[in-house]
Amino acid sequence: MLVVERLTKRFGGFTAVNNVSFKVDRGEILGLIGPNGSGKSTIFNLLSGTLPATAGSMRFDGMEIAGLSPHRIINSGIGRTFQIPRPFHRLTLFENVALAGYFGQGRDSRAKAEEGAERALAAVGLTTDRAASVDGLGAAGLKKLELAKALATGPKLLLADESLGGLDDKEMDQAADMLRKIRDELGITIIWVEHIMGVLMRVVDRVMVLDHGEKISEGLPAEVSSDPRVIEVYLGTDAGSTQAAAARERR
Ligand code: ADP
Ligand code: MG
Repeated sequence: MLVVERLTKRFGGFTAVNNVSFKVDRGEILGLIGPNGSGKSTIFNLLSGTLPATAGSMRFDGMEIAGLSPHRIINSGIGRTFQIPRPFHRLTLFENVALAGYFGQGRDSRAKAEEGAERALAAVGLTTDRAASVDGLGAAGLKKLELAKALATGPKLLLADESLGGLDDKEMDQAADMLRKIRDELGITIIWVEHIMGVLMRVVDRVMVLDHGEKISEGLPAEVSSDPRVIEVYLGTDAGSTQAAAARERR
């Protein structure tokens, strides 16, 4: 479904993503992990057209998407969430999601955008009450809103960025289950970015690990969590204890 080859992004003299190649098969959940600053969100920004790539190619269902506008990419079927939710507080919850729907499937039709919003809100377990506000959603609610907005654009491939940040243990489990449900029930392929391994490892089919913009490991969750290079990178970071615990559990 997605074939990325030798993808590179430089900001001035700094290389944030260095020669990264990977594939995503239809129907899978690929986990993309790595310490803070390793280039994960930048890869999402390149895939979604938010930033132009310095070099490399990204083919989605056979079509080169490098150089396409974000709008064209959304319409080709790639939806994304943002790591930091920034809803419009003057719009209702429903309007926030319907607005995202206009960027995707419903740009010519208000009814279509609104139908998409209804389905997306229901899929993430948020109210479809048209009067509900975005105020007071809390960390978990805001993550759900981000997911609903991405779903409302009608994606075939969902890029989910740091869905667990700021959540407690129970909320993390629920967020992981929700991503799996989106794949299983809606048939949407997912790339899931997270800086900690934690519950991600129990839901993803495959994992790819970035460090300083380079791919350092890739494989099944059990293989990757026992890879010495991965353990070395994760030790000494705030995610290290989670990683070490996950590795111990698997032994
Ligand atoms: P993460 O893996 O935590 O998501 P990012 O992809 O956000 O990491 O960032 C990777 C590196 O690129 C970081 O050092 C970050 O400061 C840098 N970076 C990201 N976006 C920009 C930008 N727009 N301009 C300059 N540097 C950036
Ligand atoms: Mg990030």
